[in-house]
Amino acid sequence: RVIAPAHPVSGSPVIQHSGRMGRPGSSTDRGLAPGGWMQAPSVILSSMPAAPESTIQQTLQRVYGYAEFRPQQQAIIEDIIAGNDAFVLMPTGGGKSLCYQIPALHRSGVGIVVSPLISLMKDQVDALNANGVAAAYYNSSQGSDAARRVLGRLHEHALDLLYISPERLISGGFLDRLSDIDIALFAIDEAHCVSQWGHDFRPEYAALGSLRERFPEVPLVALTATADAQTRGDIVRLLNLGHAKQHIAGFDRPNIRYTVLEKHKPFEQLLRFLDGRSHQAGIVYALSRRKVEEIAARLCGQGLSAAAYHAGLPAAQRERIQEEFLRDECSIVVATVAFGMGIDKPNVRFVVHYDLPKHIEGYYQETGRAGRDGLSSEALLLYGAQDVVTARRLIDSNQNPQQQRIEIHKLNAMVALAEAVTCRRRVLLGYFGESLAHDCGNCDVCTNPPERFDATVEAQKALSCVYRVGQRFGIRHVIDVLRGADTDRIRTLGHTRLSTYGIGSDMGEQEWTSIIRQLIHHGYLEQDIANYSVLKLTSAARPLLRGERRLELARPRIRDARKIKRPRTDGLGGGYDEALFDALRRLRKQLADLEGKPPYVVFGDATLMQMARDKPTTQQGLLAVSGVGQHKLDKYGDDFLDVIAGYGTREDQQGA
Ligand code: ADP
Ligand code: ZN
Repeated sequence: RVIAPAHPVSGSPVIQHSGRMGRPGSSTDRGLAPGGWMQAPSVILSSMPAAPESTIQQTLQRVYGYAEFRPQQQAIIEDIIAGNDAFVLMPTGGGKSLCYQIPALHRSGVGIVVSPLISLMKDQVDALNANGVAAAYYNSSQGSDAARRVLGRLHEHALDLLYISPERLISGGFLDRLSDIDIALFAIDEAHCVSQWGHDFRPEYAALGSLRERFPEVPLVALTATADAQTRGDIVRLLNLGHAKQHIAGFDRPNIRYTVLEKHKPFEQLLRFLDGRSHQAGIVYALSRRKVEEIAARLCGQGLSAAAYHAGLPAAQRERIQEEFLRDECSIVVATVAFGMGIDKPNVRFVVHYDLPKHIEGYYQETGRAGRDGLSSEALLLYGAQDVVTARRLIDSNQNPQQQRIEIHKLNAMVALAEAVTCRRRVLLGYFGESLAHDCGNCDVCTNPPERFDATVEAQKALSCVYRVGQRFGIRHVIDVLRGADTDRIRTLGHTRLSTYGIGSDMGEQEWTSIIRQLIHHGYLEQDIANYSVLKLTSAARPLLRGERRLELARPRIRDARKIKRPRTDGLGGGYDEALFDALRRLRKQLADLEGKPPYVVFGDATLMQMARDKPTTQQGLLAVSGVGQHKLDKYGDDFLDVIAGYGTREDQQGA
């Protein structure tokens, strides 16, 4: 097994490696040679005299190259190794995979991982193979030969992990097949797919409930990032995990900076945001297919590397775009929510929401695709009042009143987040039932708290203008009147003669928009959504208009996207050599292309940055870099050391 230093039978190294530059033609199956490393299924670590039992810490270091577990990982892993069932709730990017992978390596037999998406399986298997783990997948994307080979390895007990789709697991007598195979555990990934309440319901997942009874001796672990109580309850009930320990990890993703900008000329806001970030990988979410295509085309028109992705495109094209994104060949994917479920790319540096998401769950899941590698990342939301109107209209078209109520509630929570004048992370985590001890210091509200001002007079101007136009016009027109716009429409309507015409000419359109929106959200105005979003006064407006009370509002946040302070890009607390980092990235891309894999399968950005900072000169030094495990050291170590050394030499020459 991977953790054993020597082959139990031959004494040769368990992880067979190619030596340097052995990559061309090498497949990921190298080192996973037919015949398997472990002919005897019952050989467990402790029975190998030459291989004293590895600790899970040693496995973490040796296989993954990581020095420490993240919170909860260790407890979960120990629990499963001890043979217990577990329910694991962790945010996207929190590190769920290790929680079942390491137990599968430490327990006798193969770990069976149920995963809903073919692309996810492929990603995970690639990453495991790159670390020298005997993993394979079994799903409908395979030809029959490939499928037979996988089954062959399964029966030879040559696999540590098998990823499988729920359909394949449940049908075709696969479960019978498993009866004479030693199984380390069952892991149900994306377990929220069992729940009809959740957003990715998969009917095939329902059949997984039989596993608990059918394999009473095998630990069963369910993993999800979906937090709502309903879904959680369904998972536990439907998978028969009532007795299992629930491991709930914190939902915070401290490396993601949340920023909300009031939407105003969004494409220009996007361009300014991308300025200086265009070589980084990112996702831009928009609501409609049409908009997705338009934004992507305009970005390409600006010379940026962008592509559109939505469910209306042919499958082959979607696959190509996804592949290019994973391989760092296309930087920016502009997409509907259809994109991302299967994207485990660790170095996504930003996620932009061009339109308001329908609920915080979706927003959190989508923004969670940024910064899985733990490096600083950005989540930018462009928030406009019109988006709320559009979203409400969509909800109104839903026939089911109960569903409507839920959706309205979720939308309101999303709006409240976008409107928040307190730390965004507080609002976000609060939604998931967590509270923060301190403001986060890494969101736009924390880094740039909104100024409050006495807005009584401005509010009176706006409210009386709504009244003067007969409560028959929307935001735009009211602002035009306030600002004294000289348009045909205003002249035709005779609105130049109103007492409120031009009384707000000292302020810009954006400021007025912000003030009116805040008046709506504080309940002084309402928008008649059924009737062209016409503004009407509420009863709360009266005392304000009569001067019986005062009102404080947040100073409008009309800011330049460029002014979003760029966070430290390394997250290592120290500078690294950017030129060397670029050289290492180029090497990584070359090596990855030779293997036909995404670059991050070779090493993550954080690993390259640390190399570019520490400039190790020996194998031992390289092994100390986070993300460098034994297998990758053997496979790539010399190539990376060469580049680091060559770089140092060049610098020396320049210095001479
Ligand atoms: P999830 O499935 O929860 O979304 P993953 O399992 O894909 O998250 O992990 C996210 C990233 O974090 C991966 O790149 C993984 O290698 C990395 N990771 C997981 N655990 C650790 C750890 N203990 N130390 C450093 N990196 C880790
Ligand atoms: Zn904050």
